[in-house]
Amino acid sequence: MKYEEISQETLCKIKSIVGEKNVITDSDMIQPYSHDEVTDPAYHHMPEVVAYAESAQQTADLVKLANERHFPVVPRGAGTGLACGAVPIYGGLVLSLEKMNKILEINEDALYAVVEPGVRTSDLQAAAEAKGLFYAGDPCSGDSCFIGGNIATNAGGNRAVKYGTTRHQVYAIEIVSPTGTIMNLGARLQKQSTGYCLDQLVIGSEGTLGIITQATVKLLPKPQFTLDLLAVFHSVEDAIGVVNKVIRAGIMPTCVEFMDNITIRSVERYLNEKLQGSEEGNYLIIQVEGINEEDLDDKAVTLDEICTENGSSSVLVADSEKIWRARKSFAEAVRAESLIVCKEDVVAPVDKEPQLLHEILLLAKKYNLITRIASHAGDGNIHLNIIKNEELSYEVWDKNVKDMQQELYKTIYALGGRLSGEHGIGYKRKHLMEEFTDPNELEWMKAIKKTLDPNNILNPGKIFDIE
Ligand SMILES: Cc1cc2nc3c(=O)[nH]c(=O)nc-3n(C[C@H](O)[C@H](O)[C@H](O)COP(=O)(O)OP(=O)(O)OC[C@H]3O[C@@H](n4cnc5c(N)ncnc54)[C@H](O)[C@@H]3O)c2cc1C
Repeated sequence: MKYEEISQETLCKIKSIVGEKNVITDSDMIQPYSHDEVTDPAYHHMPEVVAYAESAQQTADLVKLANERHFPVVPRGAGTGLACGAVPIYGGLVLSLEKMNKILEINEDALYAVVEPGVRTSDLQAAAEAKGLFYAGDPCSGDSCFIGGNIATNAGGNRAVKYGTTRHQVYAIEIVSPTGTIMNLGARLQKQSTGYCLDQLVIGSEGTLGIITQATVKLLPKPQFTLDLLAVFHSVEDAIGVVNKVIRAGIMPTCVEFMDNITIRSVERYLNEKLQGSEEGNYLIIQVEGINEEDLDDKAVTLDEICTENGSSSVLVADSEKIWRARKSFAEAVRAESLIVCKEDVVAPVDKEPQLLHEILLLAKKYNLITRIASHAGDGNIHLNIIKNEELSYEVWDKNVKDMQQELYKTIYALGGRLSGEHGIGYKRKHLMEEFTDPNELEWMKAIKKTLDPNNILNPGKIFDIE
């Protein structure tokens, strides 16, 4: 893909749109914008310019300029992505939304919030909680990622099993289109059947179809009674197999998270603390809500019975703070073990998850690869981290990973699964997207992109390439 370099004259125009203080070109200062949380330098690319937008109008003016001068624009939230979606692979302009970070309204009666895209997810959660309310989106990176990034990636997280992913929390978005028009998509309605659902098309499009400049999101009354149970299983498949049985028993859990034993040990080393039941096996963390203590007790009894019948050696009331700190430290614990790691984010139908996990472990053995596994088990999403073995050269390890991926993705698609449950495709997985997606489906996606972004300005080279 050929783009124009950002000339001094274009740079002056950019400065006149957002103000001198909101533009950086110094290589040390723009370096952090050359990557997201993917540590492999092969995926890092420097932008030519970084600009901070302070309004939708500034964003629109920059995108119009980019169309006139033909340089790429890469929207960026907090840069916590795991698919290189915010990496400027063709240089150009990284447009950071971090200064658009205001919560504009929290409406306690009608249960919604209006936010700018640079609001940190945990700040929205805290602001809702301060009013006795609840924002259900809860990615594990919530302390650092932004709502705009969550919407752009359709972030999932721990509570998706009950409340859905980010797209289910959003009523409406204001966007800047790829040609620089400010548009409002969606509406604060419980239902509508009024033409194409364009808000949902943009949500999860990873910054390729629009820049989110504002969002109206749903709030709920805060659940008053919650309980975290920890069930420990010798068998990985038995642990995962519990999920559908719990739902069939009439209990809709808020979270069902899985960690295999080797991963629990890794987190223990990272946190330097002993975790409950870590010597016994694999974890299933189940969170449920109740209308009162009695209701919670009843649910705990049923869950205990189901887990025990399914092979759990112990079902404990978890130390909530400790168990969630452990689960949320998964990524950091892996990073502390190795910076050379391949992170997979595969998703399968929940009932096929035990089979998928079984296949993953067999493949890891076949290719002599070290894995760390945590999963949003309640929604079939497995985070498989493959760490470089010390005894393998990088070349051999890399080849083994690629060979394993080929077999893994064939298995996943045969089971009715997909490449990514929540992290997205970005730049990192686009070759796999091309290889494994139904060609008709891919053709529609490309046709949409070409129509809405005729100059291929907005986050080019992500999800797929346009020929
Ligand atoms: C420790 C850790 C734990 C994580 N846990 C989870 C998890 O539980 N669930 C989950 O889903 N993800 C998780 N992630 C991945 C990541 O945090 C999410 O993808 C998050 O939604 C990214 O938000 P961000 O603001 O950092 O976006 P960025 O990384 O900056 O960008 C991500 C993508 O969104 C686009 N984008 C960003 N802002 C906008 C905008 N305003 N308009 C249009 N496009 C935009 C970018 O171009 C890019 O394609 C985790 C990451 C880490 C490091």
